[in-house]
Amino acid sequence: REVEVRYPEPRVLRLHLARVGGSQDADRARRVAVLSDITTERVQTEDRVESERIDSIVALAAGVAHELGNPLNSLTIHLQLIERRLKKMKEAREAAALGESLRICRDEVARLDGIISNFLGAIRPQPPDLAETDLGALVAEVLRVQHRELEDRRIAVEVETVPLPAVLADRNQVKQVIFNLTKNAMEAMQPGGSLRIRSRSDDDSVYLAFADTGAGIRAEDLGRLFQPYHTTKPGGNGLGLMIAQRIMRDHGGQVGIESKEGVGTVVTLQFPRRDRRARMLRG
Ligand code: ADP
Ligand code: MG
Repeated sequence: REVEVRYPEPRVLRLHLARVGGSQDADRARRVAVLSDITTERVQTEDRVESERIDSIVALAAGVAHELGNPLNSLTIHLQLIERRLKKMKEAREAAALGESLRICRDEVARLDGIISNFLGAIRPQPPDLAETDLGALVAEVLRVQHRELEDRRIAVEVETVPLPAVLADRNQVKQVIFNLTKNAMEAMQPGGSLRIRSRSDDDSVYLAFADTGAGIRAEDLGRLFQPYHTTKPGGNGLGLMIAQRIMRDHGGQVGIESKEGVGTVVTLQFPRRDRRARMLRG
């Protein structure tokens, strides 16, 4: 039988009860109880089940995204045909109006194409291409891309990164993670909000924390954040955090989230230190 104890800390124990000695007399029978601590084993199984479930959903979504490629190609070709025909049209005014609609169609098709290739690029279960990486520089690169949007939303960004020990990371994948987190922070805040990005390290890990002054997360939603398609936004896809977690796990790291409704949210990325990782591999 497995028992869960909550005190002094939550643990899962396996209890074996065995009769010893030959006595058939119930009063005099002796029993041994063996308790083994199986907490780690249990946590690992739960983790594995969770990541297998995510893997299967991601595989499904990747299949759908891939299938969308063919009709999009066909749309592109036919739009080009229409464009060619249009150029030969006599009615100039009519042609101009149609040309404008056509341009919008082409832009939208290109946008869909972009969404799909970003999606596939982000979720493809590709092992990270690890290289020594300066996390501070990655943050700066992502913020440059988001500069306009941050300005439009009147969100102040404060970056306090200290010189960090090297981590091994896939630049593009980690940029994707940072992008997803800063985007979420922006979307959670009103104009005038502020995003603070800080880094630190200890003996084992390097941390990047993203603290926003946004709406925060309801306690009952905290457990669902990494589930694919969990979103509280009208136009959200609920994939950002799932992808972030997947990438961080592939890096041997983690994503931690703390939040207080009405106060803000802190999302922390934890990366294993390179020197530490090397020691682990050797040991
Ligand atoms: P999406 O952004 O498309 O909704 P995500 O996976 O990125 O999907 O986020 C899932 C949900 O987690 C969001 O809809 C939001 O409710 C919550 N969330 C994530 N980051 C934050 C944040 N910084 N502040 C408040 N809520 C957040
Ligand atoms: Mg998001």
